[in-house]
Amino acid sequence: MTTHTAQIIDGVALSQKLRTDVTQRVQALKAKGITPGLAVILVGENQASQVYVRNKVKGCLDCGFHSVMEKYDGDMTQDALLARIDSLNNDPTIHGILVQLPVPAHIDANKVIEAISPLKDVDGFHIASAGALMTGMPGFWPCTPYGCMKMLESIGFDLKGKHAVVIGRSNIVGKPMALMLLQKSATVTICHSATKDLKAMTLQADVIVAAVGKRNVLTADMVKPGAVVLDVGMNRNDEGKLCGDVDFEGVRQVAGYITPVPGGVGPMTITMLLVNTLESAERTAK
Ligand code: NAP
Repeated sequence: MTTHTAQIIDGVALSQKLRTDVTQRVQALKAKGITPGLAVILVGENQASQVYVRNKVKGCLDCGFHSVMEKYDGDMTQDALLARIDSLNNDPTIHGILVQLPVPAHIDANKVIEAISPLKDVDGFHIASAGALMTGMPGFWPCTPYGCMKMLESIGFDLKGKHAVVIGRSNIVGKPMALMLLQKSATVTICHSATKDLKAMTLQADVIVAAVGKRNVLTADMVKPGAVVLDVGMNRNDEGKLCGDVDFEGVRQVAGYITPVPGGVGPMTITMLLVNTLESAERTAK
């Protein structure tokens, strides 16, 4: 008996390829006197956020960007943060501004997101960016679903007429993911915590994107043979190791393609942040 195993979509290798292109474009911009600049703001001591922010800044520096990491105490006032964003909005050396979420409870995350100029909203969370995505206008796409689209592109997957099931409906992953898939003419189903029969939905899917934040949300019995499975989730298993939402070992026996965690969507998210920041800087050169 032969056992089937899905092909792995390697987010590290794809990131390296895309970052090589980014680095070359950064050099071309620098020759014109422009260095792409990303400001990353972290408020408070969230351990996971510190790791994400370090990786984002490192990604920038590796590709030749100018990157400033600004770390503030957890008691920073909302007014002080908004004032800092305003000055970065007006700083010509900065092409992208990112405030790492979550912010402390006394700060309104929506106010912070809306304070960032849409021209520098490289996370793609501003209402203007969301509206642009919804209406098919140019604008920054949120990095995680954008990275998922690049992964599908990398395997030459034609979404037209395919059934895509997105599990999760957050503003930063699930909803924009669904819109991007729709834009490529997939038939899209969005599932969430009130979905009655998740398995009945996922079994119909040619593409499944799991963006929930719970282990084993997707198991082998829920996947149609040959389906493409993208795992956005970031969780810890019983041994404390990073894992996704998908039962990787089980699902890889059924799926056609699968993304691992770690080494899948995570690195792609940072790569697309670099792409967005670069494109913001390139726009100023035109
Ligand atoms: P979120 O805001 O907590 O959203 C989770 C979504 O999952 C919600 O829409 C929720 O439904 C839905 N859900 C919860 N339980 C469910 C269930 N049993 N069945 C079906 N749907 C269920 O999370 P998020 O920010 O979108 O992030 C999702 C995961 O991706 C997290 O693990 C996060 O750490 C990870 N993530 C990874 C990256 C990366 O770079 N790899 C980037 C961003 C996020 P309701 O809306 O009904 O509550």
